[in-house]
Amino acid sequence: MNSQPIVIDRREHGIDRSQVLPAALKVIDGLQNAGFHACVVGGGVRDLLLGLKPKDFDVATDATPEEIRKVFRSARLIGRRFRLAHVRFGREIIEVATFRGQAGGESDTEHSNGRILRDNTFGSEAEDAVRRDFTINALMYDPVTEVVKDYVGGYEDLKSRTLRLIGDPVTRYREDPVRLLRATRFAVKLDLKLEPATAGPIPQMAGLLSDIPPARLFEEVLKLLMAGHAWPTFRQLVQFGLWEALFPNLFEDPSRPGELVEQALKNTDDRVRGGQPVTPAFLFAALLWPRVRVKAVLLEKEGIPIVEAYSEAGEIVLAEQVRTVAIPRRFSGMSKQIWMFQPRFMKMRGKRVLGLMSERRFRAAYDFLLLRALEEPELEPVAEWWTQIQELTTEERNQKIFGRKRKPGGRRRQQAGSGPA
Ligand code: ATP
Ligand code: MG
Repeated sequence: MNSQPIVIDRREHGIDRSQVLPAALKVIDGLQNAGFHACVVGGGVRDLLLGLKPKDFDVATDATPEEIRKVFRSARLIGRRFRLAHVRFGREIIEVATFRGQAGGESDTEHSNGRILRDNTFGSEAEDAVRRDFTINALMYDPVTEVVKDYVGGYEDLKSRTLRLIGDPVTRYREDPVRLLRATRFAVKLDLKLEPATAGPIPQMAGLLSDIPPARLFEEVLKLLMAGHAWPTFRQLVQFGLWEALFPNLFEDPSRPGELVEQALKNTDDRVRGGQPVTPAFLFAALLWPRVRVKAVLLEKEGIPIVEAYSEAGEIVLAEQVRTVAIPRRFSGMSKQIWMFQPRFMKMRGKRVLGLMSERRFRAAYDFLLLRALEEPELEPVAEWWTQIQELTTEERNQKIFGRKRKPGGRRRQQAGSGPA
């Protein structure tokens, strides 16, 4: 470890301080005026150097959480795994962390099979840099002096677009196996080459993800799949053998997940990039669908009514899945509704049609039906029928589903009309 950083000046790194969120600048000014060190760290610096717009600006300082609170009376101390301060300016919340020391030997650092369970040891700026994950995530930018400090060779790595773990990769993955997923995510999202020693151990270490709490894996899965790069990220996860560690047994061969899954991931990416709303519920509905469908067909053969069969199959598959990745009910509930909708699309007549169309999940379930038609050609006319019905005027629609025009207030039972053809 170099305790002397490489110092990169403004002319070379090209970051303008105005690119830093004003709230982060205020936090750093406040801490520095009180006599502390403080700088922007992590993804914010990395993204500025890459010419991207950072998601957030994290601040690191040598002030302890209590000292931070003395400088900013509004600061709230949070976190169990790490203690952090949140400083609020209007609508912005800036996360401020005290420099942390290297894991190992300190009294409040706990290990289990090389895994770090807690690391709250305070440290120097240099120590804080080396305990970060990748070199490109360990750069520090001081907006007051306008220099970037690099303790780990991250600046060179950024220039050559290389993703490299700090230190010995096997040790670092063992300390925190989520780094396996982060390696995949950053490589794909930022289009970086994984340095060979960083990439090499990934497949054989994938099994370590089973030690990670399912709730934490869920958070990581969202970052992997909801950031506009779901499809290439999926393929990379499969290649590294990480996919099976997260979502075991969903596909016979995860390198060929089927058209529905591929298109669901690609559509998600298009929507994220186009700024349209996306819900993980739809994605999980697609990913788990092949398994849900097989189970539902079996249950129906056992005599369970079809919609219920989808409900039960969904519950079974979800119960298996949440053992590795904990999908919260607010999402899985909607996935289940999408599945239960599918058999109901097969009935294309009478009041039911209007009933379905007025239900809350109609749109998502219909989009899902369109995806299914990619794999099940016999569904094409059904999907087409449901596309058309939405484009009709009320009168035309009634004509189509009741066979003839419905008299206002008319109660007569109608002969049911059109089928899929
Ligand atoms: P993103 O743009 O996805 O937010 P990020 O680099 O900011 O990327 P965060 O998860 O927000 O990622 O973490 C902030 C910083 O904290 C990282 O840049 C890295 O320096 C450090 N960090 C995060 N997770 C880990 C980890 N598992 N091990 C070591 N350092 C980590
Ligand atoms: Mg971040």
